[in-house]
Amino acid sequence: MAEFDTDLFVIGGGSGGVRAARIAALHGARVMIAEEYRMGGTCVIRGCVPKKLLVYASHIRHEIEDAAGFGWTIPQVSFDWPTLIANKDKEIARLEAAYTANVEKAGARVLKTRAEFEDAHTLRLATGERVRSKYVLIATGGAPNHGSAIPGIEHVISSNEVFHLPSLPRRILIQGGGYIALEFACIFAGFGSDVTVVYRGDNVLRGFDDDVRAHVRSEMEKEGITILTGCTVKAVDKHGKDFTSHLSNGSSIGSDQVMFAIGRHPNVVNIGLEKAGVGINPSNGGIDVDGFSRTTVPHIYAIGDVTHRLNLTPVAIREGHAFADTVFGKRQIAVDHADVPTAVFCQPEVGTVGLTETQARAQFTHVDIYKSTFRPMKATLSGRDTRMLMKLIVDATSDRVVGCHIVGDDAAEMVQLIGIAVKMKATKADFDATMALHPTAAEELVTMRNPTERHVRQAAE
Ligand SMILES: Cc1cc2nc3c(=O)[nH]c(=O)nc-3n(C[C@H](O)[C@H](O)[C@H](O)COP(=O)(O)OP(=O)(O)OC[C@H]3O[C@@H](n4cnc5c(N)ncnc54)[C@H](O)[C@@H]3O)c2cc1C
Repeated sequence: MAEFDTDLFVIGGGSGGVRAARIAALHGARVMIAEEYRMGGTCVIRGCVPKKLLVYASHIRHEIEDAAGFGWTIPQVSFDWPTLIANKDKEIARLEAAYTANVEKAGARVLKTRAEFEDAHTLRLATGERVRSKYVLIATGGAPNHGSAIPGIEHVISSNEVFHLPSLPRRILIQGGGYIALEFACIFAGFGSDVTVVYRGDNVLRGFDDDVRAHVRSEMEKEGITILTGCTVKAVDKHGKDFTSHLSNGSSIGSDQVMFAIGRHPNVVNIGLEKAGVGINPSNGGIDVDGFSRTTVPHIYAIGDVTHRLNLTPVAIREGHAFADTVFGKRQIAVDHADVPTAVFCQPEVGTVGLTETQARAQFTHVDIYKSTFRPMKATLSGRDTRMLMKLIVDATSDRVVGCHIVGDDAAEMVQLIGIAVKMKATKADFDATMALHPTAAEELVTMRNPTERHVRQAAE
């Protein structure tokens, strides 16, 4: 009898787990992958993909409003939430099937069940079966935080439920100031809902460049979204179909949905980590891993959101691929987590790569800032009251562009490409040597000639 039933057991069929299972199987390993909910995980089922579809849907209202300035008369429009949700669900089901088919085609076996450690090599399935595996990959992802148990917390939805609301809320209160909170605030505002954002900090998008934070807030407020900072929701009452949220500043806000998007935690509980001897990283609460995603137990690895490093789909995928190459492909690969481009699909959207101004000024002695805010060309005829922000951060000693931050239409698409230049360590002189492409918004990135600010840090005493 073989010592192990399989070479690799993957717990979690999300972005990272599916990629790892597929590549390991293509390297010739015997692979099993367990998924307790739906194949594809957070990104496909209740994250990036359905969210972006809702962003597209809500942005159409802007297009309709902007059309008049270009001579179009659109007599009457209406929007049907159930149609959008049904079409979105159809697409998600298609993707879920494609994920399952691709991993099976590579030779891995998909187990539609929950799995937990019984010991360091044994997995117990919810079906009652036991599987012994030579290697185990933990790819269980993360889940929304609900925060402290305030009175009425049972009335509050998270990003898990928001994709399945039976009707469009006329009024919604969203607590949170991170990217998920802002994206849903803009989605609902686009559909015409009355939106209030409540955030405990002094400004939204903590961790982003301060100019981006200020610009996004002002653009969202221009769209009619109310943003209340420095306060929290203390209690939620329900009366019939309506809710009243009581805030720490003494005010109360009525709505017909209350959503919390106040952060996510890694899925580390109730999977038997202690039985397997897998350690937790005390600094972030995720599974403790080294540069090759290896845990404190040599044959157990962990990737993606459960390690709480950089919680993004492409990062989980890259980590899953690197794991499979390292363990089964005879190619040791450590993922480089520096200069990862990222976006916030609020409206207008944010694209960002590299360091913020604050980070750059802490790291380098001479920092030049190139900043421009301007009215996009389209807004001249549409009449929309909006401005774009573009900001480059340059280490003035080496002339290297170490950060790029954009707020405006297509910012995410631009930053995906600028990300290549930043990763290649392009200098400001390289940007200047690049011919502008006219007329675009992106040309601003290669035509900002003079720094708007120069910062010199005095040597520490
Ligand atoms: C609303 C929202 C929007 C997002 N938007 C973006 C975006 O625009 N861009 C971006 O890059 N990232 C985005 N993300 C983040 C992205 O979804 C995650 O970083 C990514 O899905 C992480 O992949 P993963 O494989 O680590 O985990 P997941 O995709 O979460 O997969 C983990 C899987 O494990 C399963 N599982 C858990 N425990 C067990 C168990 N014991 N047994 C069996 N199965 C188990 C879960 O059901 C889940 O399917 C978003 C997230 C959310 C919530």
